[in-house]
Amino acid sequence: MNDMITKLRDTQNLTDEEFRILLTTDAFDADLREAANAVRIARYGYDVYLRGLIEFTNYCKNNCLYCGIRRDNKEASRYRLTQEDILECCREGHELGFRTFVLQGGEDPYFTDERICAIVSAIRAQYPDCAITLSIGEKSRESYQAYFDAGANRYLLRHETANPAHYAKLHPAEMSCENRKRCLYDLKEIGYQIGAGIMVGAPFQTIDHIIEDIRFMQELQPDMIGIGPFLSHKDTPFRDEPNGGLALVLRLLGVLRLTFPEVLLPATTALGTMHPQGRELGLKTGANVIMPNLSPVSVRKKYMLYDNKICTGEESAQCRNCLNTRVESAGYHISMSRGDALRVRRQNG
Ligand code: SAH
Repeated sequence: MNDMITKLRDTQNLTDEEFRILLTTDAFDADLREAANAVRIARYGYDVYLRGLIEFTNYCKNNCLYCGIRRDNKEASRYRLTQEDILECCREGHELGFRTFVLQGGEDPYFTDERICAIVSAIRAQYPDCAITLSIGEKSRESYQAYFDAGANRYLLRHETANPAHYAKLHPAEMSCENRKRCLYDLKEIGYQIGAGIMVGAPFQTIDHIIEDIRFMQELQPDMIGIGPFLSHKDTPFRDEPNGGLALVLRLLGVLRLTFPEVLLPATTALGTMHPQGRELGLKTGANVIMPNLSPVSVRKKYMLYDNKICTGEESAQCRNCLNTRVESAGYHISMSRGDALRVRRQNG
């Protein structure tokens, strides 16, 4: 086993230069995969945790340059689910064994704090044993507190990049890296389990940026880290930018598993979109979470963050079966638990 990999495994840290070498050298990939898989098995066994993703609105007031549901994309056909629709997704998901619901959407002003709190309270009342995750962007601390008090437990907000200059190239001037980081720290202080993360191979991204991302997350200590490749969308300013590469996504997954041994690491839909076996390869390189779609089939093609997104034609039950086969074939098994991070399980006794 390569020395840098054993050092990372044993100390959870490397110098910037060592991270750079690990992230850019394919000769270490096999060792990295083996070490990451061993750490994942030592901490979490062969379990794969499911999160049922409910994409409840594709209206968005933001204009992120990479995103297919950005405000200025006039080609996007917009939709919103009602509270009843959302509860129906949860009902179906619960029947299929999901114990975590992730409500994700654009930053849609229709969904005021009052409406979000009403939805969260309704899910909390019907499914007291389930985790409720929100992924609805940047809000005030007061709003985050209100959702938490209504019963939300987790929040996913990828920081996208920890480097302010890089952040400014991916977002319009009214958004800032500083505010996004502020949101993550607020969420953590309030008591949420939090997820950060980046797109690998985003336009203008360098390896140094990725190392800054690792340093930022070492400080933040998120419970989950969501990474997937950047994939271009034809109706965005980044339409002609190249997609992220599979090798770097897998390498970073391995590095993250060794740097953050107890973190929850999803094999993302974007990873599955870039390669037919992408999610299976992710699972074998340290990933231990999959987030299948629970949205109604009628709206799935409308939540197009990037071109060619997979799993937009199947019913939730079909997706659930397909995933079972995929996870088993990779040598793991789907766990029906809430799949809290180990830190949280220890806290809850
Ligand atoms: N509005 C919410 C949810 C955003 S969508 C929020 O602000 O957090 C969830 C994630 O999809 C984003 O954080 C981004 O990292 C990813 N994403 C968006 N466009 C993408 C693209 N073109 N390729 C790959 N991932 C993309």
